[in-house]
Formats: sequence, C-alpha cells, structure tokens
Amino acid sequence: MSTKQKRFFLAEEEIPTQWYNIQADMPNKPLPPLHPATHEPMKAEDLYPIFAKELCHQELNVTDRWIDIPEEVRDMYKYYRSTPLVRAYGLEKALDTPAHIYFKNESVSPVGSHKLNSALAQAYYCKQEGVTNVTTETGAGQWGCALSYAAKVFGLEAAVYQVKISYNQKPYRRSIMQTYGAQVTPSPSMSTRAGKDVITRDPNNQGSLGTAISEAVELAMTTPNCKYVLGSVLNHVALHQTIIGLEAEKQMEKAGEYPDIVIGCFGGGSNFAGISFPFLRHNILDGKHTRFVAAEPASCPKLTRGVFQYDFGDLSGLTPLLPMYTLGHDFMPANIHAGGLRYHGAGMIISQLLKDNLMEAVDLYQSETFEAGLLFSKVEGIIPAPESCHAIAAAIREAKACKESGEEKVILFNLSGHGLIDMSAYDMYLAGSLQDYDIPQEQIDANTSKLDKII
Ligand SMILES: *Cc1c(COP(=O)(O)O)cnc(C)c1O
Repeated sequence: MSTKQKRFFLAEEEIPTQWYNIQADMPNKPLPPLHPATHEPMKAEDLYPIFAKELCHQELNVTDRWIDIPEEVRDMYKYYRSTPLVRAYGLEKALDTPAHIYFKNESVSPVGSHKLNSALAQAYYCKQEGVTNVTTETGAGQWGCALSYAAKVFGLEAAVYQVKISYNQKPYRRSIMQTYGAQVTPSPSMSTRAGKDVITRDPNNQGSLGTAISEAVELAMTTPNCKYVLGSVLNHVALHQTIIGLEAEKQMEKAGEYPDIVIGCFGGGSNFAGISFPFLRHNILDGKHTRFVAAEPASCPKLTRGVFQYDFGDLSGLTPLLPMYTLGHDFMPANIHAGGLRYHGAGMIISQLLKDNLMEAVDLYQSETFEAGLLFSKVEGIIPAPESCHAIAAAIREAKACKESGEEKVILFNLSGHGLIDMSAYDMYLAGSLQDYDIPQEQIDANTSKLDKII
C-alpha cells in the first residue's frame, strides 16, 4: 500500500475570498450581447428586468480582475468547501500510464454538483435587492436542485421548469427540488405562451433547455418581484465557478505540481470555466503553456462543429443575442443521458477563448463516456454524473497518449458531480441499450444558416 498523500484540502482561512474575472485579462474581450430587436449593445440597465442588478454588472464587467465573494456566500461555501483535490492513483494504475492524474471533486456539495457555487451567489444577490421569487430551467435537474436549495437558504420562492425528458427519466431530481420546497413544472408546459407554442407544433416534444429557458424568462418578465436565474452559459455564472480553479491552484501547489492539461465537461461552460480560468490566467499573463480541453457530447457539438455567431440563449428568442459558438437556438439534441450537456450554445467568454485558440474542444460518443465512468467507478469508488463522464473519458484519452509517448504529464480534470441519481442511465449502459448519435452535417448547416449574419 502506498502511503503517499491522496487528497489535498485547504484550511478555512485558505479558501479564496474573491472570484476571478477572466474578462479583465482576455486579449480580445467578448463581443457585447445585443438587444434582440434593435441589435444595439446591451448595457447593464437593459438586463435589470431579467436578472438581479449586481449580476448584470458582473456580466458586463471587463475591468475588475477580482470580485469579492460576499460574506454570506462565503459562509455557505464553508459547509462544503474546500472540495477535495484527489490524486487518482487507482485510475493511473488501471491505465498503466506515467501521467499524474488529479481530479477536483465537486460532487461533495450538498446537492451533488458544482452548480451550488453559483446558485448560492445568485440567490444571495436576488435577496439583497428585495426579490421574493426566482425562476429557472433545469435539464438533468442538477441546476434546479442547486437553485431550489439556495433559494431556501436565502428565503426565496423557486419555480423550476424541468426539461420533460429529464422530468420523466430522473424523477428523483424532481423529488429533491420539491423536498427543498420548489415548485417544479415539466417543460414544454401549457403554463406559458412559449410552452404552448411548442406543444401545439409538436405534441410529443420532450423538451430542451432552450424551451425551458423561454418558459422561465417569460414567467420572470410577467411576474412582479420575480427574477430569472441561469445555471450556466453567462459570464457571471462562470465567474462564480472560478472558486473551483482558485482552490485547485492552491491545492496543486500543496501537491507540488502544476497541470499540463486541464479538462472539464462542457454543457454551457460553467464547470469548465471554473476549473480552467484561474490556470488560464497564467497562460495569458505568465507565459505558461497548459492545455485546456472542453469535452462535449458528439450529439450536441457546439464547440467542435458549431458556428461563431450571434444567437439567442433560448428557443423563442426572448434573451439578448449572445456572441457564441452555437448549433442554432432551435437545435433539438438527441436524448442522451448527460442531460446537462444538451444545450445548443457555449458561453460568450468560452466562445471568444476558443476562437482565439486559448483552449481546445473534443467531442465524445456517450458509449465511450460511460465506459470511462464505469472504469472510474471501479478504481476510484465514486460513480460520476453522466456529464462528468465526458471529462473522465477525455482525461483517459490524454493519459493513454502519455503512455504511448512515455510522457509524465500532469492532468487535472473536474469531477462536476456524482451520478447516484443517474443510475437508470448506467442500467441502460450495462444492458447494452445505450445508443450513440451522429448528427448529419446538413442538419447543423440547416440550423445555423437560419441565423442572422451579424458577425
Ligand atoms: C450542469 C452540469 C454540467 C454542465 O454544465 P456546465 O455549465 O457546462 O458546467 C456538467 N456536470 C454536471 C454534474 C452538471 O450538473
């Protein structure tokens, strides 16, 4: 038995007290979000009807490198942070690789994923400005669970639209949200105009994040004292998630190593941003050469096969136009089990970073990701979320490449969540009934060619 240290923690006083705003350091800033009707750049005030004011300012802040974490949020972080940084000796051994593999374990949060890092911040800022109700969408249910709990912590009512396929495939996430006291509605629903439109066109529609966002935004805009909150994609969400990478940076130092490759799975980009941006700042400012790899599903490949263009964040075109890699806002992804990765676009910061070659992306079939998740479960003991399996699979590819070349690289990936409420997906994988989906190029072209050529 090795007696080497396996987990690296921070003392309470070492937990970062500020988030890192990469916008301040980007060589090319993200293009501005545009008003959907006038195509004028949006100012923070233009976003006030939808989001809490402080979040609107964080969204457009391209000057302040460090943003203080409010004390009330830091206090809540202390219930589960720092999260462990773990050296994956079991995985290294199973792969017989010279690579050193580390993972940051965000699955230890009370709700089982990284999403709580931003949910707590957003609920806090809403409460601060006197908001009483928050509404949002959720895919796999992870964000809905995080928001439901954060809303309860800060005394807000939460209404969650859950993508219908997940509502049915993952009934326990619905129960969790309801246990925290949230009101949960499957989307598309008949409770909003946006939902009715979809159901009228397609009665069997199983929903998508784009539709659910439309419903939640519509509810926020038509309900007094209600704000919309989003669990990914936006700059302020990426900002809050940098607590992951900032902690990891200090923990890697304790381990006496610095990552050559940083990997995160990719839905809208928040956990990838969280693990990457603090290290990426050393590439930008200090000449480091770490590689940053976003792992997305082959069935929803916005980074590897999407176009860089202004597009809506939702299906109905209620959000501002965002400059991003996108498959088109009406792209309907296949019903893969990594529900949190079924989103048509990527965050604005990520999109600019990818365009500027400061990061990379790979796409993976779900069979490869579950194979990776199964191996990881057996050798590390933690059953990963289907989303996180994408990061593990990408890390395994890199570790195998190290074996080929004999290089002793340091690989760090983010374990964004556990999969204990996703066992039906594992069941299907074990039964051999999971399907891989190929998207014909014509389908992507047909969707993206409908976008206004603003860029
Ligand atoms: C939501 C979710 C994701 C994907 O969202 P990002 O914003 O891209 O991080 C990944 N993993 C887990 C466990 C999630 O809940």
